[in-house]
Amino acid sequence: MSTEPTLRLFFAVPCPPDQATAIAAWRDRQRLDGRAVAPENLHLTLAFLGAQPAERLQALRQMADGIECEAFELTLDHLITLGQGFVCLAPTAAPPALLQLAAQLAERLSALGIVLDNRPYLPHLTLMRQSPTQAQAAATFSWRVERFVLYQSQNTVDGVRYQELGSWPLAVGEN
Ligand code: ATP
Ligand code: MG
Repeated sequence: MSTEPTLRLFFAVPCPPDQATAIAAWRDRQRLDGRAVAPENLHLTLAFLGAQPAERLQALRQMADGIECEAFELTLDHLITLGQGFVCLAPTAAPPALLQLAAQLAERLSALGIVLDNRPYLPHLTLMRQSPTQAQAAATFSWRVERFVLYQSQNTVDGVRYQELGSWPLAVGEN
């Protein structure tokens, strides 16, 4: 019998508040059908860990401390539909540093015995769920990604909420 508490965890690139406001306002003007993601929940998942024992947090934090990745400019400029009606903003060209960050996390998580989804990593920021919308022209949103975050996903009466459990800076170069 195990009563060990588990946490539903994922690493992600958060959407900065000013960008989240702008993206949600643009999304709302499109009047897409479906369920809109709350502005404070907008993010790009880097690695989804699923249910993990709470006692694993320390090892996860140590793992994240060892990540070495450069800060990068992220540009989301097209709309894609994924899975069951997820309308998402995505980069036409994924920044190499974003792919390196996701790959480093996957490799280090695997070393901890945490195996991720085996589909290729596809960076995306989900705007709507359960939407019949087909891909259409998108606006362009850019920001400089200077940190990544470990989130706990919690279901509440007001819907899902992501609690920040840790934040790690990306290396800022000379330029
Ligand atoms: P809810 O599932 O309650 O509607 P949610 O999907 O936002 O809300 P989670 O299911 O906890 O919350 O997912 C958190 C993040 O991880 C989301 O970006 C989600 O797309 C991603 N995610 C969830 N499950 C997987 C999975 N099996 N593989 C890859 N990413 C996943
Ligand atoms: Mg989900």
